[in-house]
Amino acid sequence: MTATTTAKTTAAMAAFVKETGGWVAGQLEACTRCGLCAEACHFYQALGNPEYAPVWKLEPLRKAYAQRFTVIGRLKRALHWEKSVSDADLAHWSTLVYEACTVCNKCAMVCPMGIQIGPLIHEVRTAMSAAGVVPADLLAAARKQEEVGSPLGVTETAWRERLDWIAEEWEVEIPVDKPGADTLAVFTSIELMKFPENLAAVATILNKAGESWTVSSPGREVVNFGYFESNERRTKLFLGRVFDAAKALGVKRIMISECGHAYEAFRWTAPNIMDVPPGLTVTHIVRVIYDLWKAGRIKLKAGAYADAPITFHDSCKIQRRGGHIKEPREILKILAGDSFREMDPCREQSMCCCGGGGVISIQEADPLRFAVFGMKIDQMKANGAQSVCMVCSNCRLQFTEGVAHFGFEVKVRGLTEMVAKALV
Ligand code: SF4
Ligand code: SF4
Repeated sequence: MTATTTAKTTAAMAAFVKETGGWVAGQLEACTRCGLCAEACHFYQALGNPEYAPVWKLEPLRKAYAQRFTVIGRLKRALHWEKSVSDADLAHWSTLVYEACTVCNKCAMVCPMGIQIGPLIHEVRTAMSAAGVVPADLLAAARKQEEVGSPLGVTETAWRERLDWIAEEWEVEIPVDKPGADTLAVFTSIELMKFPENLAAVATILNKAGESWTVSSPGREVVNFGYFESNERRTKLFLGRVFDAAKALGVKRIMISECGHAYEAFRWTAPNIMDVPPGLTVTHIVRVIYDLWKAGRIKLKAGAYADAPITFHDSCKIQRRGGHIKEPREILKILAGDSFREMDPCREQSMCCCGGGGVISIQEADPLRFAVFGMKIDQMKANGAQSVCMVCSNCRLQFTEGVAHFGFEVKVRGLTEMVAKALV
């Protein structure tokens, strides 16, 4: 049977060519195809499938670049020596970059040529998005976020009702749309709906410290499915909603609660693709908690969690990218003392839990993300932890579902809630 190449695939190849200018071309030219990055990728480590090698996930970009910009590539194309990319090839690559990559960028740490594979994967996803070859679940979430303001379909009314319920249930004040507050706290729908105790914990800590803060109805969603999709229009739209809300309220800083990719999008992507309100800083809840504790504005009960071994999962975007490695550890040393145990690997070398990059939202990818998570189970078995904590709600969802999938007995906790419960 002959492979079909329709206009959609031709459009995708044109989009790949568009993505291969300047910086991308330099990165593709620098790759020696040594294959070292494969061993750093958790998908390849867990399953040994050569298609999960990071460099292979960039292949459509390389093909488009070679055919358009190299002499040999042009010659092969003119003489029809190189097989065209078919619809089936494109669909297959789409699953590789959206379902078998969490854009964790650990592979870039081992590349001897310094190639930034994670950002290049985003370029591949951009072309896939332009050609309309995006997994249905992820695209549906992005569209829902565009239409309703939340990928889970949480409307403004539902959001307000949920906040009121959290405030009542945990007996905590949550200021809404308060002009002139210093800090705008932004949460994900995942936290709001699946981990409401986390939102209550953030409110408890900020109130205890006497922080001037607020949440915002128009800027209520911090996750960015446009970013997972790599659709620049949607990415800017979702970032812009929060920046506009921050501007309207006159806050000094945006505090990202527990979403690693949102933190990356606000801190590093936004300044490169759009105007960010001047003077506005972006910070993460783990840094805020640390600073409040260091300044003596909150006090922690020493040994509050020292009764059983506990470990910490380093998130790719908050610890490896964001550098917030010492903050959770210093806090855990107070809360858990000698009961704190590192996972191996940890810190910037930590293995991705396999929930990020939008992978967790794609049902078809479930068997893959659980298979990879098996390695995380092994790491917890090895250090004997009875509980594991983290500062990313996306990781927390993956851990909660992952340990249930394997029937593994470990308590999954959010560090923010641990801190709120240990306040004195
Ligand atoms: S480690 Fe770097 S140079 Fe080697 S194959 Fe991977 S991307 Fe290319
Ligand atoms: S970014 Fe992470 S998941 Fe993607 S290829 Fe690299 S190591 Fe693998």
